[in-house]
Amino acid sequence: MNIHESEKIAGTLEYLGYTETKDSKEADIIVFNTCCIRDNAEKHALGNIGAVKHLKKSKPDLIVAVVGCMTQQDMAGVQLKEKFPFIDIILGTNNLDKLGECVLDIVNNRHKSILIDPNENPAIVEHQPVYRTSGTNAWLNIMYGCNNFCTYCIVPYVRGRERSRKMSDIMDEFKSLLDQGYQEITLLGQNVNSYGSNLDNGDNFARLLENIAKLDDYTKHRVRFMSSHPKDINMDIIDIIADSKSICNNIHLPIQSGSDKILQLMNRHYTRDHYLQIIDDIKKKIPDCGITTDIMVGFPYEEEEDFQDTLDIVRRVGFSSAFTFVYSIRRGTKAAVMPQVPAEVSKDRIQRLIKEQNAVTKAISKTYEGGVFEVLVEDINPKKEGFVCGRTDTGRLVNFQGNADLIGKFVDVKIEKTQSASLFGSIKE
Ligand code: SAH
Ligand code: SF4
Repeated sequence: MNIHESEKIAGTLEYLGYTETKDSKEADIIVFNTCCIRDNAEKHALGNIGAVKHLKKSKPDLIVAVVGCMTQQDMAGVQLKEKFPFIDIILGTNNLDKLGECVLDIVNNRHKSILIDPNENPAIVEHQPVYRTSGTNAWLNIMYGCNNFCTYCIVPYVRGRERSRKMSDIMDEFKSLLDQGYQEITLLGQNVNSYGSNLDNGDNFARLLENIAKLDDYTKHRVRFMSSHPKDINMDIIDIIADSKSICNNIHLPIQSGSDKILQLMNRHYTRDHYLQIIDDIKKKIPDCGITTDIMVGFPYEEEEDFQDTLDIVRRVGFSSAFTFVYSIRRGTKAAVMPQVPAEVSKDRIQRLIKEQNAVTKAISKTYEGGVFEVLVEDINPKKEGFVCGRTDTGRLVNFQGNADLIGKFVDVKIEKTQSASLFGSIKE
Protein backbone atom coordinates (compact mmCIF):
# COMPACT_ATOMS: atom_id res chain seq x y z
CA MET A 1 0.00 0.00 0.00
CA ASN A 2 2.78 2.41 0.94
CA ILE A 3 4.85 1.55 -2.11
CA HIS A 4 1.87 2.30 -4.34
CA GLU A 5 1.23 5.58 -2.53
CA SER A 6 4.86 6.50 -3.15
CA GLU A 7 4.21 5.80 -6.84
CA LYS A 8 1.32 8.28 -6.70
CA ILE A 9 3.56 10.88 -4.98
CA ALA A 10 6.22 10.38 -7.66
CA GLY A 11 3.48 10.59 -10.33
CA THR A 12 2.36 13.97 -9.02
CA LEU A 13 5.92 15.27 -8.97
CA GLU A 14 6.59 13.96 -12.47
CA TYR A 15 3.42 15.72 -13.64
CA LEU A 16 4.83 18.96 -12.22
CA GLY A 17 8.03 18.43 -14.22
CA TYR A 18 10.32 16.95 -11.58
CA THR A 19 12.59 14.01 -12.43
CA GLU A 20 13.92 11.29 -10.14
CA THR A 21 17.35 11.47 -8.48
CA LYS A 22 19.01 8.86 -6.28
CA ASP A 23 21.23 11.53 -4.68
CA SER A 24 19.46 13.52 -1.95
CA LYS A 25 22.04 16.33 -2.31
CA GLU A 26 20.75 16.93 -5.84
CA ALA A 27 17.09 16.95 -4.87
CA ASP A 28 14.84 20.03 -5.11
CA ILE A 29 12.11 18.26 -3.20
CA ILE A 30 12.21 15.33 -0.77
CA VAL A 31 8.98 13.61 0.26
CA PHE A 32 8.96 11.21 3.20
CA ASN A 33 6.15 8.70 2.90
CA THR A 34 5.77 7.47 6.47
CA CYS A 35 4.15 4.45 8.11
CA CYS A 36 3.11 4.08 11.75
CA ILE A 37 2.00 0.44 11.84
CA ARG A 38 4.81 -0.42 14.27
CA ASP A 39 7.13 1.64 16.43
CA ASN A 40 10.27 0.79 14.44
CA ALA A 41 8.66 2.10 11.21
CA GLU A 42 8.05 5.41 12.97
CA LYS A 43 11.58 5.53 14.37
CA HIS A 44 13.03 4.97 10.88
CA ALA A 45 10.92 7.80 9.50
CA LEU A 46 11.89 10.22 12.29
CA GLY A 47 15.60 9.36 11.89
CA ASN A 48 15.47 9.91 8.14
CA ILE A 49 13.58 13.20 8.43
CA GLY A 50 16.07 14.48 11.02
CA ALA A 51 18.93 13.64 8.67
CA VAL A 52 17.85 16.18 6.00
CA LYS A 53 18.20 19.14 8.36
CA HIS A 54 21.73 19.82 7.11
CA LEU A 55 20.62 19.58 3.46
CA LYS A 56 17.97 22.20 4.07
CA LYS A 57 20.61 24.45 5.68
CA SER A 58 22.90 24.33 2.67
CA LYS A 59 20.01 24.56 0.19
CA PRO A 60 17.21 26.70 1.65
CA ASP A 61 14.99 26.26 -1.44
CA LEU A 62 14.81 22.51 -0.89
CA ILE A 63 11.18 21.51 -0.24
CA VAL A 64 10.70 18.88 2.47
CA ALA A 65 7.33 17.15 2.68
CA VAL A 66 6.19 14.53 5.20
CA VAL A 67 3.14 12.52 4.22
CA GLY A 68 1.59 9.14 5.02
CA CYS A 69 -0.20 7.58 7.93
CA MET A 70 2.25 8.67 10.64
CA THR A 71 1.05 12.26 10.26
CA GLN A 72 -2.55 11.16 10.82
CA GLN A 73 -2.10 10.18 14.43
CA ASP A 74 -3.57 12.47 17.03
CA MET A 75 -1.57 15.75 17.00
CA ALA A 76 1.28 14.12 15.09
CA GLY A 77 1.34 16.80 12.37
CA VAL A 78 1.73 19.62 14.89
CA GLN A 79 4.35 17.67 16.88
CA LEU A 80 6.33 16.92 13.72
CA LYS A 81 6.42 20.60 12.82
CA GLU A 82 7.61 21.44 16.33
CA LYS A 83 10.34 18.81 16.24
CA PHE A 84 11.43 19.55 12.67
CA PRO A 85 10.54 23.20 11.90
CA PHE A 86 12.20 22.88 8.49
CA ILE A 87 9.37 20.69 7.15
CA ASP A 88 7.47 22.60 4.45
CA ILE A 89 4.47 20.35 3.79
CA ILE A 90 2.59 17.84 5.97
CA LEU A 91 -0.21 15.74 4.47
CA GLY A 92 -1.89 12.44 5.35
CA THR A 93 -2.82 9.47 3.18
CA ASN A 94 -6.32 10.81 2.55
CA ASN A 95 -5.29 14.13 1.07
CA LEU A 96 -2.19 13.13 -0.86
CA ASP A 97 -3.92 14.45 -3.98
CA LYS A 98 -3.21 17.96 -2.59
CA LEU A 99 0.57 17.49 -2.81
CA GLY A 100 0.86 19.11 -6.26
CA GLU A 101 -1.08 22.19 -5.17
CA CYS A 102 1.06 22.54 -2.02
CA VAL A 103 4.33 22.26 -3.94
CA LEU A 104 3.21 24.92 -6.43
CA ASP A 105 2.14 27.20 -3.59
CA ILE A 106 5.58 26.99 -2.05
CA VAL A 107 7.46 27.33 -5.33
CA ASN A 108 5.39 30.40 -6.15
CA ASN A 109 6.05 31.84 -2.69
CA ARG A 110 2.39 31.92 -1.78
CA HIS A 111 3.05 30.11 1.50
CA LYS A 112 6.10 29.47 3.63
CA SER A 113 4.91 26.14 4.92
CA ILE A 114 1.74 24.13 4.76
CA LEU A 115 0.13 21.75 7.22
CA ILE A 116 -3.14 20.48 5.86
CA ASP A 117 -5.25 18.62 8.41
CA PRO A 118 -4.13 15.11 7.55
CA ASN A 119 -7.50 13.74 8.62
CA GLU A 120 -9.62 15.78 6.24
CA ASN A 121 -11.11 14.75 2.92
CA PRO A 122 -11.43 10.98 3.04
CA ALA A 123 -13.07 10.98 -0.41
CA ILE A 124 -11.76 8.77 -3.20
CA VAL A 125 -9.85 10.74 -5.81
CA GLU A 126 -9.70 9.02 -9.20
CA HIS A 127 -7.17 9.57 -11.99
CA GLN A 128 -4.19 10.58 -9.87
CA PRO A 129 -0.96 10.38 -11.86
CA VAL A 130 1.13 7.29 -11.03
CA TYR A 131 4.85 6.81 -11.64
CA ARG A 132 5.09 3.02 -11.55
CA THR A 133 8.32 1.54 -10.25
CA SER A 134 7.39 -2.07 -9.73
CA GLY A 135 8.54 -3.61 -13.03
CA THR A 136 6.31 -6.42 -14.22
CA ASN A 137 3.79 -5.93 -11.41
CA ALA A 138 1.32 -3.07 -11.09
CA TRP A 139 -0.45 -2.26 -7.82
CA LEU A 140 -4.14 -1.43 -7.99
CA ASN A 141 -6.14 -0.06 -5.03
CA ILE A 142 -9.64 -1.47 -4.87
CA MET A 143 -10.47 0.19 -1.55
CA TYR A 144 -9.07 2.44 1.17
CA GLY A 145 -9.30 2.44 4.97
CA CYS A 146 -10.51 -0.26 7.33
CA ASN A 147 -13.52 -0.88 9.58
CA ASN A 148 -12.19 -3.81 11.57
CA PHE A 149 -10.53 -2.24 14.58
CA CYS A 150 -8.31 -5.17 15.49
CA THR A 151 -7.33 -4.05 18.99
CA TYR A 152 -3.58 -3.81 18.23
CA CYS A 153 -3.92 -1.87 15.00
CA ILE A 154 -3.62 1.84 14.24
CA VAL A 155 -4.79 1.58 10.61
CA PRO A 156 -8.53 2.34 11.11
CA TYR A 157 -7.61 5.41 13.18
CA VAL A 158 -5.13 6.85 10.69
CA ARG A 159 -6.56 5.71 7.36
CA GLY A 160 -10.21 6.16 8.23
CA ARG A 161 -13.32 4.10 7.42
CA GLU A 162 -13.46 1.60 4.59
CA ARG A 163 -14.19 3.14 1.18
CA SER A 164 -14.43 0.95 -1.92
CA ARG A 165 -13.76 2.26 -5.40
CA LYS A 166 -16.51 1.82 -7.95
CA MET A 167 -16.25 -1.50 -9.79
CA SER A 168 -16.26 0.30 -13.18
CA ASP A 169 -13.31 2.52 -12.14
CA ILE A 170 -11.35 -0.54 -10.97
CA MET A 171 -12.10 -2.48 -14.15
CA ASP A 172 -11.11 0.51 -16.33
CA GLU A 173 -7.76 0.78 -14.54
CA PHE A 174 -7.27 -2.99 -14.63
CA LYS A 175 -7.82 -3.14 -18.40
CA SER A 176 -5.64 -0.11 -18.99
CA LEU A 177 -2.79 -1.79 -17.05
CA LEU A 178 -3.12 -4.88 -19.24
CA ASP A 179 -3.10 -2.64 -22.32
CA GLN A 180 0.09 -1.02 -21.03
CA GLY A 181 1.66 -4.49 -20.96
CA TYR A 182 1.82 -5.29 -17.23
CA GLN A 183 2.09 -9.03 -16.72
CA GLU A 184 0.91 -9.02 -13.13
CA ILE A 185 -1.62 -6.91 -11.24
CA THR A 186 -1.96 -6.95 -7.45
CA LEU A 187 -5.28 -5.75 -6.00
CA LEU A 188 -4.80 -3.84 -2.75
CA GLY A 189 -7.01 -3.29 0.28
CA GLN A 190 -6.70 -3.72 4.06
CA ASN A 191 -9.41 -6.38 3.83
CA VAL A 192 -10.17 -7.08 0.17
CA ASN A 193 -12.84 -9.63 1.12
CA SER A 194 -15.13 -6.88 2.38
CA TYR A 195 -14.84 -4.95 -0.89
CA GLY A 196 -18.15 -3.24 -1.73
CA SER A 197 -19.57 -3.09 1.79
CA ASN A 198 -20.17 0.67 1.49
CA LEU A 199 -21.36 0.68 -2.13
CA ASP A 200 -25.00 -0.34 -1.54
CA ASN A 201 -25.30 -1.84 -5.01
CA GLY A 202 -24.59 -5.48 -4.23
CA ASP A 203 -21.06 -5.37 -5.60
CA ASN A 204 -18.66 -7.52 -3.60
CA PHE A 205 -15.20 -9.07 -3.91
CA ALA A 206 -16.48 -12.28 -5.54
CA ARG A 207 -18.20 -10.21 -8.26
CA LEU A 208 -15.09 -8.15 -8.79
CA LEU A 209 -12.98 -11.31 -9.16
CA GLU A 210 -15.59 -12.72 -11.57
CA ASN A 211 -15.23 -9.64 -13.77
CA ILE A 212 -11.46 -9.86 -13.53
CA ALA A 213 -11.57 -13.55 -14.49
CA LYS A 214 -13.56 -12.65 -17.63
CA LEU A 215 -10.32 -11.06 -18.88
CA ASP A 216 -8.34 -14.29 -18.36
CA ASP A 217 -7.62 -14.54 -22.11
CA TYR A 218 -7.37 -10.82 -22.87
CA THR A 219 -3.58 -10.93 -22.40
CA LYS A 220 -1.26 -13.41 -20.69
CA HIS A 221 -1.18 -12.10 -17.14
CA ARG A 222 -1.48 -12.90 -13.46
CA VAL A 223 -3.62 -11.41 -10.70
CA ARG A 224 -2.82 -11.39 -7.00
CA PHE A 225 -4.55 -9.63 -4.12
CA MET A 226 -3.85 -8.69 -0.51
CA SER A 227 -4.87 -8.85 2.28
CA SER A 228 -7.70 -11.30 2.91
CA HIS A 229 -9.38 -11.39 6.30
CA PRO A 230 -10.28 -14.91 7.53
CA LYS A 231 -13.65 -13.70 8.84
CA ASP A 232 -14.75 -12.57 5.36
CA ILE A 233 -13.22 -14.97 2.82
CA ASN A 234 -15.85 -17.38 1.45
CA MET A 235 -16.38 -20.34 -0.91
CA ASP A 236 -17.47 -18.12 -3.83
CA ILE A 237 -14.09 -16.41 -3.73
CA ILE A 238 -12.19 -19.70 -3.41
CA ASP A 239 -14.17 -21.21 -6.33
CA ILE A 240 -13.43 -18.25 -8.61
CA ILE A 241 -9.70 -18.45 -7.80
CA ALA A 242 -9.76 -22.19 -8.50
CA ASP A 243 -11.47 -21.71 -11.89
CA SER A 244 -9.59 -18.66 -13.16
CA LYS A 245 -6.41 -19.01 -15.21
CA SER A 246 -5.12 -15.57 -14.34
CA ILE A 247 -5.94 -15.34 -10.61
CA CYS A 248 -2.95 -16.94 -8.89
CA ASN A 249 -3.15 -19.94 -6.61
CA ASN A 250 -1.72 -17.85 -3.84
CA ILE A 251 -3.65 -16.45 -0.88
CA HIS A 252 -2.29 -14.17 1.82
CA LEU A 253 -4.46 -14.93 4.85
CA PRO A 254 -3.15 -13.26 8.02
CA ILE A 255 -3.80 -15.44 11.06
CA GLN A 256 -2.08 -13.26 13.74
CA SER A 257 -2.33 -15.95 16.45
CA GLY A 258 -3.28 -19.61 16.85
CA SER A 259 -4.89 -19.09 20.25
CA ASP A 260 -8.66 -18.51 20.51
CA LYS A 261 -8.14 -16.47 23.66
CA ILE A 262 -5.73 -14.12 21.90
CA LEU A 263 -7.80 -13.94 18.69
CA GLN A 264 -10.76 -12.82 20.76
CA LEU A 265 -8.71 -10.20 22.60
CA MET A 266 -7.48 -9.02 19.20
CA ASN A 267 -11.10 -8.63 17.99
CA ARG A 268 -10.40 -10.81 14.94
CA HIS A 269 -13.86 -12.47 14.78
CA TYR A 270 -12.67 -16.00 13.96
CA THR A 271 -11.41 -19.01 15.90
CA ARG A 272 -8.50 -21.34 15.10
CA ASP A 273 -11.03 -24.02 14.04
CA HIS A 274 -12.68 -21.62 11.62
CA TYR A 275 -9.28 -20.71 10.21
CA LEU A 276 -8.34 -24.38 9.81
CA GLN A 277 -11.69 -25.03 8.08
CA ILE A 278 -10.93 -22.29 5.51
CA ILE A 279 -7.49 -23.82 4.91
CA ASP A 280 -9.15 -27.19 4.39
CA ASP A 281 -11.61 -25.69 1.90
CA ILE A 282 -8.79 -23.94 0.03
CA LYS A 283 -6.66 -27.10 -0.13
CA LYS A 284 -9.61 -29.19 -1.40
CA LYS A 285 -10.38 -26.75 -4.22
CA ILE A 286 -6.83 -25.58 -4.96
CA PRO A 287 -4.46 -28.36 -3.84
CA ASP A 288 -1.24 -26.53 -4.80
CA CYS A 289 -2.29 -23.17 -3.30
CA GLY A 290 0.55 -21.17 -1.75
CA ILE A 291 -0.79 -19.81 1.52
CA THR A 292 1.10 -17.02 3.27
CA THR A 293 0.30 -15.21 6.48
CA ASP A 294 1.08 -12.55 9.10
CA ILE A 295 1.73 -13.68 12.68
CA MET A 296 2.31 -11.63 15.81
CA VAL A 297 3.85 -12.66 19.12
CA GLY A 298 3.82 -10.92 22.48
CA PHE A 299 0.27 -9.59 22.26
CA PRO A 300 -1.06 -8.64 25.74
CA TYR A 301 -2.03 -11.66 27.88
CA GLU A 302 -0.17 -14.09 25.55
CA GLU A 303 1.07 -16.98 27.69
CA GLU A 304 3.34 -19.86 26.71
CA GLU A 305 0.27 -22.02 26.12
CA ASP A 306 -1.16 -19.47 23.64
CA PHE A 307 2.18 -19.26 21.88
CA GLN A 308 2.26 -23.07 21.64
CA ASP A 309 -1.14 -22.87 19.88
CA THR A 310 0.46 -20.50 17.37
CA LEU A 311 3.40 -22.86 16.77
CA ASP A 312 0.93 -25.73 16.38
CA ILE A 313 -1.12 -23.96 13.73
CA VAL A 314 2.04 -22.98 11.86
CA ARG A 315 2.91 -26.68 11.62
CA ARG A 316 -0.63 -27.75 10.69
CA VAL A 317 -1.33 -25.20 7.95
CA GLY A 318 2.03 -25.32 6.20
CA PHE A 319 2.37 -21.65 5.25
CA SER A 320 4.72 -21.22 2.33
CA SER A 321 6.02 -18.13 4.12
CA ALA A 322 5.03 -15.79 6.93
CA PHE A 323 5.62 -12.20 7.95
CA THR A 324 6.34 -12.40 11.66
CA PHE A 325 6.10 -9.48 14.06
CA VAL A 326 6.59 -8.65 17.71
CA TYR A 327 3.51 -6.81 18.98
CA SER A 328 4.19 -3.08 19.14
CA ILE A 329 2.11 -0.75 21.32
CA ARG A 330 0.14 1.79 19.28
CA ARG A 331 -1.14 4.77 21.24
CA GLY A 332 -4.94 5.08 21.18
CA THR A 333 -5.67 1.43 20.39
CA LYS A 334 -7.48 -0.85 22.85
CA ALA A 335 -4.52 -3.18 23.36
CA ALA A 336 -2.27 -0.29 24.39
CA VAL A 337 -3.88 -0.23 27.82
CA MET A 338 -3.84 -4.01 28.33
CA PRO A 339 -1.10 -5.65 30.49
CA GLN A 340 2.00 -6.00 28.31
CA VAL A 341 4.19 -9.07 27.79
CA PRO A 342 7.85 -8.46 28.82
CA ALA A 343 10.11 -7.63 25.87
CA GLU A 344 12.51 -10.52 26.55
CA VAL A 345 9.62 -13.02 26.43
CA SER A 346 8.45 -11.65 23.06
CA LYS A 347 12.02 -11.71 21.77
CA ASP A 348 12.39 -15.37 22.70
CA ARG A 349 9.03 -16.24 21.12
CA ILE A 350 9.69 -14.48 17.83
CA GLN A 351 12.95 -16.42 17.46
CA ARG A 352 11.22 -19.72 18.14
CA LEU A 353 8.41 -18.81 15.74
CA ILE A 354 10.84 -17.91 12.94
CA LYS A 355 12.70 -21.18 13.49
CA GLU A 356 9.46 -23.17 13.25
CA GLN A 357 8.29 -21.34 10.12
CA ASN A 358 11.71 -21.74 8.47
CA ALA A 359 11.46 -25.50 8.94
CA VAL A 360 7.98 -25.50 7.37
CA THR A 361 9.12 -23.31 4.46
CA LYS A 362 12.10 -25.62 3.87
CA ALA A 363 9.88 -28.73 3.82
CA ILE A 364 7.43 -27.12 1.37
CA SER A 365 10.33 -26.01 -0.85
CA LYS A 366 11.46 -29.66 -1.09
CA THR A 367 8.08 -30.60 -2.63
CA TYR A 368 8.97 -28.39 -5.62
CA GLU A 369 12.17 -30.34 -6.42
CA GLY A 370 12.02 -32.09 -9.80
CA GLY A 371 8.85 -30.29 -10.87
CA VAL A 372 8.41 -27.88 -13.80
CA PHE A 373 6.69 -24.59 -13.02
CA GLU A 374 5.70 -21.57 -15.07
CA VAL A 375 7.66 -18.57 -13.82
CA LEU A 376 7.12 -14.89 -14.59
CA VAL A 377 10.62 -13.39 -14.81
CA GLU A 378 10.69 -10.25 -12.67
CA ASP A 379 14.29 -9.07 -12.53
CA ILE A 380 17.93 -9.91 -12.86
CA ASN A 381 19.27 -11.54 -9.71
CA PRO A 382 21.19 -8.73 -7.97
CA LYS A 383 23.35 -11.21 -6.03
CA LYS A 384 24.32 -13.61 -8.79
CA GLU A 385 25.60 -12.50 -12.17
CA GLY A 386 24.00 -14.21 -15.18
CA PHE A 387 20.95 -15.19 -13.15
CA VAL A 388 17.38 -13.92 -13.14
CA CYS A 389 14.56 -14.38 -10.67
CA GLY A 390 10.81 -14.67 -10.87
CA ARG A 391 7.82 -16.24 -9.20
CA THR A 392 5.67 -19.29 -9.64
CA ASP A 393 1.90 -18.90 -9.74
CA THR A 394 1.92 -19.98 -6.08
CA GLY A 395 4.20 -17.05 -5.21
CA ARG A 396 7.52 -18.89 -4.72
CA LEU A 397 10.73 -17.14 -5.74
CA VAL A 398 12.81 -19.02 -8.33
CA ASN A 399 16.40 -18.29 -9.43
CA PHE A 400 17.83 -19.52 -12.72
CA GLN A 401 20.33 -18.68 -15.46
CA GLY A 402 19.19 -15.99 -17.87
CA ASN A 403 19.56 -12.37 -18.93
CA ALA A 404 17.56 -9.15 -18.80
CA ASP A 405 15.79 -9.98 -22.10
CA LEU A 406 13.73 -12.51 -20.16
CA ILE A 407 12.21 -9.90 -17.80
CA GLY A 408 8.42 -9.85 -18.25
CA LYS A 409 8.37 -13.24 -19.99
CA PHE A 410 6.70 -16.44 -18.77
CA VAL A 411 9.06 -19.41 -18.91
CA ASP A 412 8.89 -23.02 -17.74
CA VAL A 413 11.56 -23.76 -15.15
CA LYS A 414 12.61 -27.15 -13.82
CA ILE A 415 13.42 -26.95 -10.11
CA GLU A 416 16.70 -28.69 -9.38
CA LYS A 417 17.65 -27.50 -5.93
CA THR A 418 15.99 -25.74 -3.01
CA GLN A 419 17.38 -23.76 -0.13
CA SER A 420 14.93 -22.75 2.60
CA ALA A 421 12.68 -20.17 0.88
CA SER A 422 14.50 -20.06 -2.47
CA LEU A 423 14.13 -22.41 -5.41
CA PHE A 424 16.85 -22.89 -8.03
CA GLY A 425 16.40 -24.39 -11.47
CA SER A 426 16.94 -24.05 -15.19
CA ILE A 427 14.74 -23.18 -18.14
CA LYS A 428 13.14 -26.21 -19.69
CA GLU A 429 13.69 -26.04 -23.47
N1 SAH B 1 -5.05 -5.22 6.85
C1 SAH B 1 -4.14 -6.26 6.83
C2 SAH B 1 -2.80 -5.99 7.44
C3 SAH B 1 -2.34 -4.64 7.73
S1 SAH B 1 -0.94 -4.44 8.69
C4 SAH B 1 -4.73 -7.44 7.54
O1 SAH B 1 -5.56 -7.31 8.39
O2 SAH B 1 -4.28 -8.50 7.26
C5 SAH B 1 0.09 -5.80 8.33
C6 SAH B 1 0.39 -6.63 9.52
O3 SAH B 1 1.07 -5.88 10.49
C7 SAH B 1 -0.81 -7.19 10.26
O4 SAH B 1 -1.35 -8.31 9.66
C8 SAH B 1 -0.23 -7.50 11.61
O5 SAH B 1 0.30 -8.80 11.66
C9 SAH B 1 0.90 -6.49 11.74
N2 SAH B 1 0.58 -5.48 12.73
C10 SAH B 1 -0.43 -4.59 12.72
N3 SAH B 1 -0.42 -3.83 13.85
C11 SAH B 1 0.63 -4.26 14.59
C12 SAH B 1 1.17 -3.91 15.87
N4 SAH B 1 0.62 -2.96 16.61
N5 SAH B 1 2.26 -4.57 16.30
C13 SAH B 1 2.83 -5.55 15.56
N6 SAH B 1 2.37 -5.94 14.36
C14 SAH B 1 1.28 -5.30 13.87
FE1 SF4 C 1 -5.52 -3.43 11.01
FE2 SF4 C 1 -7.23 -5.40 11.41
FE3 SF4 C 1 -7.81 -3.47 9.65
FE4 SF4 C 1 -5.90 -5.23 9.09
S1 SF4 C 1 -8.07 -5.70 9.37
S2 SF4 C 1 -5.79 -3.03 8.84
S3 SF4 C 1 -4.98 -5.61 11.08
S4 SF4 C 1 -7.60 -3.25 11.84
